Order: sequence, then C-alpha cells, then structure tokens
Amino acid sequence: PIIERHGREPNRLLQILLDVQEAFHFIPPEAITCIAEDLGLPRVSVEGTASFYSFLSLKPAGEYRILFSDNITDQMLGNPELMRDFCNKLWLEPGKVSEDNRVSADHTSCTGMCDQGPAALVNGWPLTNLNQERLDLIGDLIRDRIPVSRWPSVLFEVKDNIRRAGVLLGEPLERGAAIRATLERGVDATLMEIKVSRLRGRGGAGFPTADKWTGCRDSPGLAHYLVCNADEGEPGTFKDRVLLNSYADLVFEGMTIGARVMGSVKGFLYLRGEYRYLLEKLEDILARRRAVGLLGRNILGEAGFDFDIEIHRGAGAYICGEESALIESLEGKRGRPRNRPPYPAAQGYLDQPTVMNNVETFACAARIAAHGGEWFARMGTRQSSGSKILSISGDCARPGIYEYPFGVSMHEILDDCDAEDPCAVQVGGPSGFLVSSKEFGRCISFEDLPTAGAITLFKRGRDILQAVQNFAHFFAHESCGFCTPCRVGTQLQKKILDKIANGHGTASDLEELKHLGHIMKTMSHCGLGHTAPNPVLDMLEKFPDACGQKLKNLVFEPAFDLDGALETARKITGRDDPWAHLP
Ligand code: SF4
Repeated sequence: PIIERHGREPNRLLQILLDVQEAFHFIPPEAITCIAEDLGLPRVSVEGTASFYSFLSLKPAGEYRILFSDNITDQMLGNPELMRDFCNKLWLEPGKVSEDNRVSADHTSCTGMCDQGPAALVNGWPLTNLNQERLDLIGDLIRDRIPVSRWPSVLFEVKDNIRRAGVLLGEPLERGAAIRATLERGVDATLMEIKVSRLRGRGGAGFPTADKWTGCRDSPGLAHYLVCNADEGEPGTFKDRVLLNSYADLVFEGMTIGARVMGSVKGFLYLRGEYRYLLEKLEDILARRRAVGLLGRNILGEAGFDFDIEIHRGAGAYICGEESALIESLEGKRGRPRNRPPYPAAQGYLDQPTVMNNVETFACAARIAAHGGEWFARMGTRQSSGSKILSISGDCARPGIYEYPFGVSMHEILDDCDAEDPCAVQVGGPSGFLVSSKEFGRCISFEDLPTAGAITLFKRGRDILQAVQNFAHFFAHESCGFCTPCRVGTQLQKKILDKIANGHGTASDLEELKHLGHIMKTMSHCGLGHTAPNPVLDMLEKFPDACGQKLKNLVFEPAFDLDGALETARKITGRDDPWAHLP
C-alpha cells in the first residue's frame, strides 16, 4: 500500500522509504527488494538511496529512536550530559539499539530548535527544552511502551519566538492579494517589479531573483519546474521553520507568482526532515488554497493558469540544501551535487528548466507583488534591498527570530537580544564567518556580512576551539564523499582539531590546517567543501589563543602512533629494529 500511495513513481523513492521507516522503524531488506521490483529499479539503487540519508536506518533502530541534537548551542545548554544520563538510566550504549529492540539513542546534526534547546527528535518528532525531569518522564513513557502519539504535548511544544517583526513578519497579507496583483499587472510587469525590487536570494548566495526567473523562463523545455528549498540545515538557523509554521500562505503565494512568471504547472516544497512535524499542517493549508481557487486549475478564474504544489520530505542530509543535490533528492536519488553547468535554470528537475528559491525569497516575492518593487527597494542598502530574518541563539537572554532591514549592525543586534558579554559571533552558521568583538560595527548585508540568517553568540570565556571543533565534526559527518578534497579534508580537519583539543597539537598542526583549508577551498566540488574550512581559518586568524594555549612546545607530534600500530607485527616477526622507532 505504501508504494501504491506514491503511484509506483520512481521519483518518489525517498518518500516511499520514509514511509517504510515510519511504519517499521527501519528499512527491512525485504522492503528494499519489494520496492526495487515494484518501481523497476535495480536493488542497488534503492539500497544506495536508503543508505545515504541519516534518518533512514537499514538496521533496526528501536521502536523509539531518540536523536539528540549536537549543535554547538545544544552542547552549550548541556545536551551531552543529558544524553549520557539518559543512556545510563535506560542501560543504553549511544548509537546502539537496546537488547530488547525497544530504544536507541544517538546524535544528530542541528534540529533547527536552537532557540529552545536542548533539543532532540523522537521518531522524527521534535522534543524541545529538554531537562533532567523531562528525560525522566520520557524514560518512563518508553518503559511503559506508550506510543509517541500519546506522549504529553508539552514535550513537543515549538514556539515561534518572534522578537522583532518587519515587513515580512509584520502586517499579514490578505490571502490571494499578491496573486490578484500579479494577474492585474501581467507576467512581464511582475517580473519587472521583481527586478526593480533588486531582490536577491535569501539562501546565502544572493543571486538576483529576477535574473534567475528570467533564465528559467527563457530556457526551452517540455516543462518548467519551481522548487522551494525548505531544507535549512545550516546549524543555528531556524527562520524557515517559523515562516512555514505561521506564514506558509505567504510562501505558497510567492511560489504561485513565480509559477505564473515561468509558466510552471508543478512546484515542490522540499521540507527538511527535521520539520516533518509541519507536514500535515502544510498539507491542510495547500488543501484550503485549492478549495478557494488559489491552487489547481484556472487559478482565480484565469483560464490556463494551472499550478499545484507537492511537498517532498528530506531525510537528514545537509548537502541536500545545495540546489543540484536537492534536485537529485527530489528525483529519489542520493543527494549528490551535480556538475555545473548546466545550471538548474536550464536543466534541473528531470533535466527540465527549474527555478529554485529559498522559503524567505518566495515570501519576499509575494510582498513585492502586492506592494511593488520600489517599495521593497527603498529598504536596506545599495546592494541589499529589503529586510533579512535572522535566527539568533547562543549566549543571550532573548534567542529567537529578528527581522531587520539590511544594513543593521552587529552592535544593534547584540543589544536587542541582550547578548551576554559577547566575545565572538558566528554569522551564517559554520559555513559563514566567525566575527570577533573588534568587528561588531560590521553590518548584515551582501556587501559586508552576507548570511542566510544564522547568528550564534559566544560570551567571553567560551571555548572557541570547542565551537570550531563542533563545526568540523559537523562537516566531516555531512560531506557526501563524492570528491577527495572535501571527503578527506573534512576528516583531517576534524582529526587535527581533536588532536589539538586533547593537548597533543603542535605549531606544525596549525600550518597543516591552513594548507588543508586552502586545498579544500580551491579544489572541492561544491559549496560544502569550499566553506568547511571557514571557521577554522577564521579562528586561526582572529582567535589565535584559542589553539595557541593548548599547543605542545614541540615542532611536531605525530597524530598516528606508529610504534603502537607496529607492536603486534614486531611481536609476531620477532624483529624490532631500534632505528625504526620515532625519537
Ligand atoms: Fe560532496 Fe563535499 Fe565534494 Fe560537495 S565538496 S561534492 S559535499 S564531497
């Protein structure tokens, strides 16, 4: 029935696997065989997809699978200790399922709840504000075999935490108003309004939206597709969660306008696996929009204006935020970045012209369609028009969502969220910039500090090396493994930082980190590898003491214990040449 429900469509392979995972708590081998036969795919392709995504498990993961977020803010809030105590109480070994196959506990990357951590997921549902008491309760619920659907709702409470609203999060827009304005104005004039607004993509790269839409519209193809990238996996960001929870109509409206401009009849919302809890709510909103003629055939009575949106779930792979990897994932494959060119605007989903924008970009497009491009362009700075929504977490009294016109200074942001004696800020998540207190006069904008929205604060006394080490572990875990500079580079970076943190680092390790960073930046295949060394290089430049104080006063200490590794062979052969030992 699961395969039937998805119309035996190979592109829906990932969605089928997610449903199997939910039903059985893992992907049994028989299910892989059955899916392969029914979809007409080689078994190895199905297994390849199933093994790529961290939320899919090929081995039994227990009736209750608890994944503790190991984002740096969750670490700072005590998640490692909470996880350790939880495992001790339930006699669990981290990463392994209990002997009775009932429960497992493991780590996962950021769950998008940094403003209300410590956080975790149970069978894909978010747990927030964890503490000892809540985890004791969870332990009791598991022991009593209470289904997750009957657990107290307070455990799953997710707040929006909007602390400062601007033009996007402020006055609500009447449902359908932006689409009506688009129909009145016409397609070319709407595209001109987007151009006049100088809207740039909010996913981080900042590509001009009007150029992207024009490129896709003008590319020949059998169909033009439109994708909303709601896979915000950058640790520290959670603003798309809030937009989808409370402003989904605005996002869907922006997608519908984009569809009108590009002549798309089909759009996708790629929802990150961690936000699976929003799925039913979003499906209801789509159904309501269909019921009032804002989606489906002849939208708002306009003959031939047909467009609908399908939601695809992600499954815990950060790399799927990269647009070509996301398209692979939409096609039911492993999320591996494609070679470019061709760019998705010319050859994307099913090799057809595809436009992909971030959730916030579509929300901006809806506002622009309703209020005009000039209105939008009046806000912000010369190269960065409009506003930016920031996800603020870490050492401050008021973590949450803040919307500012572009150009706001770090000083103003730190004041507003009551930052606690800040000494460093990670802007844009691990792939962004580590900013020191000397730079708090800098501004959020494409010309100074561009960001998709994550702002993580560190107070004086925080161990910056620990933060950067956390980021390095994140990249090593999330590298898709396709190209050597990133696959090997992220692992080496992680190992060297661990070595330094454990007190075995020397000056030569710092040189090695710089050299490695240069290779990764220049030779990796996609943005993940290009940006993975950013926090390490920033730390070495701006916080030299973070590592310096932990270094040994030696020129070099090997990370690999050569004598230890050779000991068994020496015993077996009875040969132990003195000159073959390191001094
Ligand atoms: Fe994969 Fe990293 Fe290479 Fe990107 S840079 S293709 S994530 S291995």
